[in-house]
Amino acid sequence: MLTGSCLCGTVSYAIDGLDMPIGHCHCLTCQKAHASAFATTAGVLREHFRWTQGEDRLSCYESSPGKVRRFCSVCGSQLIAERPGQPHVILRVATLDQDPGARPAQHIWTSHDRPWLTTAEDVPIYPEWPSGR
Ligand SMILES: [Zn+2]
Ligand SMILES: [Zn+2]
Repeated sequence: MLTGSCLCGTVSYAIDGLDMPIGHCHCLTCQKAHASAFATTAGVLREHFRWTQGEDRLSCYESSPGKVRRFCSVCGSQLIAERPGQPHVILRVATLDQDPGARPAQHIWTSHDRPWLTTAEDVPIYPEWPSGR
């Protein structure tokens, strides 16, 4: 079992594991929803997913017809997206509290990439703040 939570800790969930490959979605809707260059997601079957705390504090937004994004109404963390008819939810992998073990299998919708998104090799990488800051 793995657990996940929002930034403020109001909402938490548990999963039995990821049921589909991890992918980075670069679509414009994910960019806006996550305020990020892309969103890292993976499908989890509904019977393998359960809210463990704060479900009543969730808010949601239907970002395209039939697709509902659920997020903490206190801190705004995106937690899952779902289409009610589908057997799985689309987990926001960065909200997991443990390493799921799997590694990303693909990037999708890179046609929506912003000009300022560069590959990791293009810019210096620091494990925390840059030295001398
Ligand atoms: Zn929260
Ligand atoms: Zn997307």
